[in-house]
Amino acid sequence: MTVDVEDYYHVSAFEKQFTRNDWDKLPQRVEHNTYRLLDLFDAHGCKGTFFILGAVGERYPQLLKDIHNRGHEVASHGYAHKRATTQTREEFKADVERSKKHLEDTIGQQVIGYRAPSFSIDESNEWAFEVLTELGFEYSSSTYPVKHDLYGTPHWPRFKYARPEGIIEIPVPTLKLAGKQIPIGGGGYFRLYPTMVAHKLVDKYLAKEQQPYSFYFHPWEIDTEQPRVTDAPFKSRFRHYLNISKMEGRLATLLDRYHWSTMKQVYLK
Ligand SMILES: [Zn+2]
Repeated sequence: MTVDVEDYYHVSAFEKQFTRNDWDKLPQRVEHNTYRLLDLFDAHGCKGTFFILGAVGERYPQLLKDIHNRGHEVASHGYAHKRATTQTREEFKADVERSKKHLEDTIGQQVIGYRAPSFSIDESNEWAFEVLTELGFEYSSSTYPVKHDLYGTPHWPRFKYARPEGIIEIPVPTLKLAGKQIPIGGGGYFRLYPTMVAHKLVDKYLAKEQQPYSFYFHPWEIDTEQPRVTDAPFKSRFRHYLNISKMEGRLATLLDRYHWSTMKQVYLK
């Protein structure tokens, strides 16, 4: 089980609506939402990996400590939610290094996992894996082998594998269905599919592939009271707000239906 800990204004779909200078002036929702998730996880006996955005971690160090102290894995989602495909190697390194150092200083333990914002590692920036290895990460979950308008590595491996740069990559799960590779790893897709269908897809994956399944989502996906962005394109708004009122209930069902643990526990032991 994985959570990308960021607020509604960090998402790539709204990057034109909110710049970094706006962040501090906006209503903050992520702290409250993440505590709600921690309680939900406790109620269902679920442990997970929290890929925490550095900008959030620096603002809420106690939240970070609580995630760690409640038995979850703390991992990095970079600092400022810049897609790696839009950064130079040096910019990427500085951003990730800042986030990793702050996480480690706060929890007093090494951080070994990283997830790129919007799964933004692909053919154009494989050097990112070298940087992650240099910084001491042991695994990344930064690729989604699907065709999507904003990201995707449809021709890359679908299951955990060792990169030549010396790091383990854990792609987000996909299912081959009727000759197509479809996304089943969470987020917007999970809110789009009816619950029964979403569960069937996971069951099929587990039976057919004999691989662990991982799921991702964000704290803002359970937040019906977040400020509404009205001036973004229809597609971005549709994806962001679709079925968020049903998400918490759906998550609870998902947590009960399967046995969940951290990325480190499942993939690195
Ligand atoms: Zn993100």
